[in-house]
Amino acid sequence: MSKQIIIVNFEEIYLKGQNQKFFADRLREQLKIKLADFKDYLHFSRRHGGSIFIELRKPLPQEERELVEEILRRTPGVTGFYTVWSVPSRREVILEKALDFARANYPGEGTSFRVTARRLKKSLPFTSRELAADIGALVVEHLGAPVNLTRPGWTLHVKVRPEQTFIYDRIEPGPGGLPVGSSGRGVAALSGGIDSPVAAAMMITRGMALDLVHFHSVPRTSPRSVEKVRELARVLSVYQPGVRLHLVPVLDIQQAIARNTDHRLRLVLLRRFMLLLAGRLAGQTDAQALVTGDALGQVASQTLENMEAISRVTSRLVLRPLVALDKKEIIRRARALGTYAVSIQPHDDACAMFTPDNPETRARLDYVEKQWARLDTDTLVEDALARMETEEYAFSLDNLKKLMAYVRTK
Ligand code: ATP
Ligand code: MG
Repeated sequence: MSKQIIIVNFEEIYLKGQNQKFFADRLREQLKIKLADFKDYLHFSRRHGGSIFIELRKPLPQEERELVEEILRRTPGVTGFYTVWSVPSRREVILEKALDFARANYPGEGTSFRVTARRLKKSLPFTSRELAADIGALVVEHLGAPVNLTRPGWTLHVKVRPEQTFIYDRIEPGPGGLPVGSSGRGVAALSGGIDSPVAAAMMITRGMALDLVHFHSVPRTSPRSVEKVRELARVLSVYQPGVRLHLVPVLDIQQAIARNTDHRLRLVLLRRFMLLLAGRLAGQTDAQALVTGDALGQVASQTLENMEAISRVTSRLVLRPLVALDKKEIIRRARALGTYAVSIQPHDDACAMFTPDNPETRARLDYVEKQWARLDTDTLVEDALARMETEEYAFSLDNLKKLMAYVRTK
C-alpha cells in the first residue's frame, strides 16, 4: 500500500523542545485555516520533529494541487515542502513503487536523471548505493532516461526510514520565517503606496499578527483610494488570514494642522498623528509594536531628523523593516508578494494633497514640539478614533487567485 503525504518543514535551527511544539501548533492552525477548502482531501497527522505531515485521502487534481502548493509557498513559517509516496520499507516494494513514481513524474523528453538513496534504517540487507543503482537501472530500462550523476535534469529521491520509505522528486521552498501569531501583535500603518504593504508582509512573515490601519481624507480624496487599500488587505489576508483593516478619517486633523501650524511642518505633524492614532489602536488590540514602511532617505519625511521628530510623539516601539532597503529591492519584493500591481494603481493619498511646496526635511525637535503644542491633539485623536471603521478579511481562494494574477502582471 502506498499513500501520498505532503511533508511541510518548519524547523528553524534554534527551535527546540517545547518551543518547537508551540511553533508547530501555530503553523498547524494557520495551515488548517488556509487549507479548509481541501479538507476532503487532506488529513493532518501528527508532527514529526521539524515537520508536519498532511496525508492525502485521495489524489489531488492538478488545479487543486497547484492551489495547495501556492498556499504553502505563502505561509510564514514554512521553510520547504514536498509530496512523497510513502511505501513499506521492503526492497522489492521500493523498487516497484520507485518505477511507478518515475512513470508518473519523470518529465520525459530525454531529461537526464539520477537516483539518490538514503537509509535512516541501517539494518537492511542492501546499501543505499546498491538501491540507487538498481532503481536507476529500472528507470533506464523502462523509460529510456539517460543517467547524469553530476548535473541531472531530474532527481528521484528515496529515503528509507524504519517504518516507511519516502519517494519524491523535488522540495519546494517556502517563505521561511515564523508562523503568524508566534511573535506577538503589531499595528501596521498601511498607505496605498508600494512600501508599507511590503513592510507589513515582512513582519507577518516574521510571525507577527498585525492589525492594519489606513488614514484617509474622504470626501476630499476619492473613495477609490480606500478601495485600493482594501484590495491590499485582501492580498495580505493570504499571508495573515483574518487580518483586520481599520479606516481612520484624518481630514479634520489635516485642516487643524493647515490652520494652526507652520506649513513646512505639515507632513511631520500629520505623521505624528498617524503614529499616535496607531499607538492608541495598539493599546486596544494588545499590540506591542507599530510597523511603518519608512526607508531612510527615500522621501522628504524620511530623513533621520524627521523620523526622530515624528517618533518622539510616542514611546511605543516603531519597527521599520524597510529602513535600509533600496527602492529597487522593495519593488522586487512587492512584485513577489503580489502587492505591487495594486500599489501602482493611481490614487490620491491623504498626504500628497497635503504636501507643501517646500516641506521641512530636517525638522528640529524643539520647533516641532512648539508647533505640536498649538493643536488640540487629545480632541482630534478622540474624534478620529470615534469615527474609525473596522473590517476583517478572511482568507479565501478568491483572494489567493487574485494575488496569483497580480504576481503574473508585468
Ligand atoms: P508608502 O509607499 O508605504 O506610502 P512612502 O515611501 O510613500 O511609503 P511616506 O508617504 O513618507 O512614504 O509614508 C511613510 C510611512 O507612513 C508609510 O510607509 C506608511 O507606513 C505610513 N503612512 C503614510 N501615509 C499613510 C496613510 N495614509 N495611512 C496609513 N499609513 C500611512
Ligand atoms: Mg506614501
